[in-house]
Order: sequence, then C-alpha cells, then structure tokens
Amino acid sequence: MSKHIFITGGVVSSLGKGITAASVALLLKRRGYTVSMQKLDPYLNVDPGTMSPYQHGEVYVTDDGGETDLDLGHYERFAGVTCNKSSNYTTGRIYSTVISREREGGYLGGTVQVIPHITNEIKASILSLDDPDTDIVLTEIGGTAGDIESLPFLEAIRQFRHEFGKDNSIFIHLTLVPYIKAAGEMKTKPSQQSVGILREIGIIPDILICRCEHPMSDDHKQKLSLFCNVPQELVIEEQDVENSIYEVPVELARQNLDKHILGLLKLPENQLDMSDWEAMIADVIKPKNGIVDIAVVGKYIKLRDAYKSIYEALGHAGIANSVKVNIRMVEAEELEKSAVDEFLFGVDGILVPGGFGDRGIPGKLKAIRYARENNIPFLGICLGMQCAVIEFARNVCGMTDADSTEFNRQTNHPVIDLMEAQKTVTAKGGTMRLGAYPCVIKEGTKAAASYGNLKISERHRHRYEFNSAFGQRLAEKGLKVSGTSPNGALVEMIELEAHPWFVACQFHPEFKSTPLKAHPLFRDFVKAALTYGD
Ligand code: GLN
Repeated sequence: MSKHIFITGGVVSSLGKGITAASVALLLKRRGYTVSMQKLDPYLNVDPGTMSPYQHGEVYVTDDGGETDLDLGHYERFAGVTCNKSSNYTTGRIYSTVISREREGGYLGGTVQVIPHITNEIKASILSLDDPDTDIVLTEIGGTAGDIESLPFLEAIRQFRHEFGKDNSIFIHLTLVPYIKAAGEMKTKPSQQSVGILREIGIIPDILICRCEHPMSDDHKQKLSLFCNVPQELVIEEQDVENSIYEVPVELARQNLDKHILGLLKLPENQLDMSDWEAMIADVIKPKNGIVDIAVVGKYIKLRDAYKSIYEALGHAGIANSVKVNIRMVEAEELEKSAVDEFLFGVDGILVPGGFGDRGIPGKLKAIRYARENNIPFLGICLGMQCAVIEFARNVCGMTDADSTEFNRQTNHPVIDLMEAQKTVTAKGGTMRLGAYPCVIKEGTKAAASYGNLKISERHRHRYEFNSAFGQRLAEKGLKVSGTSPNGALVEMIELEAHPWFVACQFHPEFKSTPLKAHPLFRDFVKAALTYGD
C-alpha cells in the first residue's frame, strides 16, 4: 500500500495549500520517493470546467483531458507529478457517482446516506491513486476546516486513518498566524481554534504549518505545540517568501519538514539534493539580462489566478533567458476603447491567451495588429491563435467580415469554425476537445526551431478551429501553417513569414512549462522579446 499524507487548511482560504502541498511533494520526490497528488474540492460542480475563471481561476487541463483545479498546475510545475482525472474530485463528482449507482440499483435496497456511502466513495477516490508504483499519495482537501461542505471529506480522512493506521497516513494542517498591527503581536488563537474544530471531528494534526508575515518566536511555537497537541519541532513556519513561490520548498526543507514526514511514515530519509532548484531561484532573484515587458491582453485580467499557468510560464521563460519578465496586464475591453499606444507602447512582446465568448475580441484584434505591424514578438494561445487568424484575414487578405462562428454565425468568411465533431454537442461539461493530442511540425519553421523536434504532444481545450477552406488564401499572403494534427486535418500552429517572431498555437503550451524547464515556445517568445527590446 502507498503511504498517505492529507493536507487540510484552517482559519482562512487562500493560504497557499496547493503550493505547500506541491512543495512537500517536491521534497519527497527529491528524497527518492514516487509521489502522486490529488485535490478534493468541496463544491458541487462536477469539475471546474463549467465555471467562469472569475469564480475559480484558471481551469487546468491534464494530459488525459481532465478539466481541473489550478492547484494541479502547482503539482505538475513544482513537483513534476503527472496528474490525471483521478487527481481532482469534487463533491459534485462524488455525489453523481453515488446517485448513478443508486439509480442502477447498486445499493440493493439500502438507504443511501452521506455516511457511509459518500464517505466510502471519497475513500475510494483517495485509494484510486494507491498503487504498487506509488510510494506516497498526497491529498489536499479544499476549503477551510469548519466549512459545512468540507465535513464529509474530513470524516472520510478520519476513517482512513482509523482503517490504515498512523504509520500509513498523516495529517498536515496549514493555518494562519496573523500579525495584529495595532497590538504589535502575532496571534496563535485562530490556529488553536482551527485545530479545535478538527479535533471535534476526530482529527488531530500530526504537523502544523503556520503561514505568517513575520518570523515566529519559540514562544509562539511552544504555545501552538501545547494547545494543538503537536510536538514543537513539528510546528513549522511558512513565512511569506520575498521573491518567488519557488522559495517555499527550500524554506520548508530548512526546517526539516520532509525528514519529519518520512519519520512519521516510517520511511528512510535518503539524501536531499536541491542544488539545481537553488540555482534556479538565484536566477529569479538576480537575472543577468535585465527586464522585458510583456503585455498579456485578455478579458479576465482583474483576477491573477485566471491566467495562472500563463503568468507562471512567462516566469519560467524569464528564468531560461535570465531576464525578469515584467507582465503588463491589459484588459482587452479597455484597449478597445483607447488609443493602442496608451496600453502597448514600449512593450517587448504581446501575448493573447485563451478564452471564450466575444467580450474583448476587438481589443485583442487591435493588439495583434499592433504586434504584426510593428514587428513586436507575438504569442497567441488558443483563442489568441484564432484571433490572429481573424486579424490577418481581415487586415491583410481583405476579408473584412472574417470571423469565428463563435462570434458571428453569419460571416461570409468563417476562418475559424466549429469542429465537425462539435456540431451535435449540446451539453457543456467535459465536451470540448480536451487533453493531449499529437501535433506534427513542419521543418524549417520557427515552431520547429523552438521544439527542436517535429513530433510533439500538447494539451487542448476548445471547440473551434482554423477553417482549412481558407488556408490557401491566407498562405498566399504569408500566414504559414507550421503544425497540424498527424493526418493534416487540423491546424495546430501558425506563424507569419514576414515577422521576426509571430507564433500562435491552438493548444495550451502553458500547462507544460516548469521552472527548471521552460516551455520552448514561451522560452523563445521571451528570447525574441529580449532581442526586440535591445
Ligand atoms: N473559444 C475558443 C474555442 O472554443 C477558444 C478556447 C480557448 O481559448 N481555450 O475554440
């Protein structure tokens, strides 16, 4: 059996449970263990795929086509853990499985209840990651201790510990130790109360990780240890990091968190080598090549989490080029109403990310035209590629009403159109073209130079695509198809011949970028921006 670590959160949300969980996984992997990760989310949507990015932040897509919580992005980026559909379960998903089973007569006349049926299903989802090749499964419980919705999940992990024992399952509780400015003091009471809530339902944390703005004193640790029933060396401090979230694992290792975890799970310590990670952080702190300004022109700009993986991937590209990437977040609708220079003057690169619906499209088209006409490096992703095609068709090929049928069904020039397979689809959840698909790259293109490989695989999440009926007319004016599906039917990448670096893709490269290995398209986009800025 695999060993299990459960991470819960207390006091407030947004404490960075995902980053903490991913940091723990990284340390354990570096000590030689195979780790799988999972997030259990207490909301009723079956997955976050139907939620607005403003509700939930970005929808992270896994290779197997899962539309999942953005914390899975941290798991893959930090720890190199491969996630799949079993890495994210919601209350909605658990209930829909139980209810379908009930409709099929699967409960043989029994009354179906939260306990044991829902909690059993939760335990089954945890065990779905348990296999002989996985040493440790790390499960993050979404929400905050004390939420009504979290209760079945907490009850399930309590039972899990009871059934599998403390050598096979441990609880880490992430909590907040706030600094009260007026009193000039840090307060441990909210954490004591949060542990109290867990204790009421039979969970006593083995390790307490305390988020704080200032260093904690021994007194604070002693107090928390005494009142929360946790040995003092297992009260770990997670102070806000100065430069980069990638410093968190190093900080946790400095306090021997990973050693303590292995001790509790009765696993040998092994060696820990973080030298490459530390070198990477040094690059983040002191880049050698100055700063580049990259504009991200989107419609969910107000919420940073909505483009999480894009911003992270730009950061990785900065590390790869030893340059600080300064992100200028541009609200497409505002750009639409203003002079383009007001928002984009002086930028070294322009990125248009994915999205849905027609709000902000004219602003995105304006930004793309500006990039194309001024030779500013451009990276278009998914909707960003579709907009690049529309802009080129309208302003270079003279198809003035060119559009995507997502925005205008009546257009005479549907350069972006619904995929054939999508025409009969009516349900919204999980029905797009999702997950990893192979793509074949044309030799001699910028895409080929970036990837250094003609056969790639990237993740998708869209319904519309490049309409090949217009391929010839666009090509004549210099829009080159640089990547297609293996049978040539679907256009996956385009680029402009008469431009230093104008590349767009139908897939989402941002999901596969990591701090130690920036995605090649992001890396070369930032490299081109660096050259442009010189
Ligand atoms: N709305 C577009 C489509 O469905 C693009 C989707 C995206 O950018 N993820 O094809």
